[in-house]
Amino acid sequence: MSSNKKPEPLRGVKGMNDYFAPESGRWEWLEAQLRDLLRSYGYRNARTPIVEPTALFVRGIGEVTDIVEKEMYTFTDKLNGDELALRPEMTAGLVRAVVEHNALYDGPRRLWSIGPVFRHERPQKGRYRQFHQLDVEAMGFAGPDVDAELILLTRALWRRLGLKEGQDIALELNSLGQAEERAAHRAALIAYLERHQEVLDEDAKRRLYTNPLRVLDTKNPALQSLVEDAPKLLDFLGEASRAHLQAVCDALDAVGLPYRINPRLVRGLDYYNLTVFEWVTPHLGSQATVCGGGRYDGLIEQLGGKPAPAVGFGLGMERLLLLLEALGLGHGESAPDVYAVVPDPAVLPRVFPVLEALRAAGVAVQMHAGGGSFKSQFKKADASGAQYALIFGGDELARNEVALKALRGDGNAPQRSLALAELDAWAPGLAQAGNA
Ligand code: ATP
Ligand code: MG
Repeated sequence: MSSNKKPEPLRGVKGMNDYFAPESGRWEWLEAQLRDLLRSYGYRNARTPIVEPTALFVRGIGEVTDIVEKEMYTFTDKLNGDELALRPEMTAGLVRAVVEHNALYDGPRRLWSIGPVFRHERPQKGRYRQFHQLDVEAMGFAGPDVDAELILLTRALWRRLGLKEGQDIALELNSLGQAEERAAHRAALIAYLERHQEVLDEDAKRRLYTNPLRVLDTKNPALQSLVEDAPKLLDFLGEASRAHLQAVCDALDAVGLPYRINPRLVRGLDYYNLTVFEWVTPHLGSQATVCGGGRYDGLIEQLGGKPAPAVGFGLGMERLLLLLEALGLGHGESAPDVYAVVPDPAVLPRVFPVLEALRAAGVAVQMHAGGGSFKSQFKKADASGAQYALIFGGDELARNEVALKALRGDGNAPQRSLALAELDAWAPGLAQAGNA
């Protein structure tokens, strides 16, 4: 086949990102931190599909929400006509799975999951069409102790990553009460909004009777003062709801975690009740919320399960990584321990077994492949970030030796020769240092 026309390069989907090293290394590092931390709180991994029936999100998240109204990727399965959606968040899918497998049968569960979620939004820094969430859920717990536990878990994460709470990232807290309390507030809110019909925008007018609480979550600056003076749900809470919020506050006070009660914090999904919270940062413009969550005691039943209370949060991985980057925090990929320089490919049959043995001993070894001069190979060794170059010269190998050169730290340390037999003794220390 010959054609002198070069094919047009294909491009990825707008708002969906590709990551390579060293950036992908920061992801790996962050994910490792998260896994470790979640384990220390007794949370266990769960994995559910990226695609779910569209009805799950319509029923779970709510029809009159930004996500379901305009952000969800939906499609019809061409082969069988099923209506499907790329998940726009993780909670609904995890609840669906827990209900389907009767996973709360022998008691409550603490779960976490990391993966891509999809929303058709205008792409900008910190806002993408495919992004990644860490989702943490405690199902079968009525709280407020577990509400506090989840918030403490997030604070422990910020601390581990080097973020200063209250400064780089701050906690906002509210209570959405129970259904009857929201109904009373809703009536008062509708009456208030009706009195101000003339200033409402299209979204607000449409939501006035379907979901007036969501009007309070508007991003329209022209509506901010209206929202400011609207009746507050907090003033409609009964004894039990107040006590629940107070217990969460007491737990946070007990560990000295500062928070702000934000009566206008309603969150963008319909399933929340009682405790809701967000961690916001001043460093990411209008993509300020890094992590948000709350209690959703009705959702499990609403999705067909036996009634069970639950609480959880979603954390935006991209936003967290952007925040860390803005503050000069975080670590890149872990470079190999050793870069193997092989100036003469003819010696490779002797090199392979040595490298395999090093790797089996836990040393990360990147082998130079593709030939090239000693000088160019050595340059690549340095650029790889490796601690050491092992140089497999023909003369050295003939003497059962290899040349060792430190590339980091004490850069002036002279190259020295090491007997191949000595590598066994040299490797364990290196493997340990590399894994530290
Ligand atoms: P926002 O108000 O910024 O649109 P949201 O309330 O829609 O956020 P949630 O549904 O609570 O966000 O999702 C949890 C977290 O996921 C957010 O706090 C944020 O960190 C992240 N997130 C949400 N939408 C996006 C997006 N389009 N791109 C990247 N991260 C996102
Ligand atoms: Mg949103």
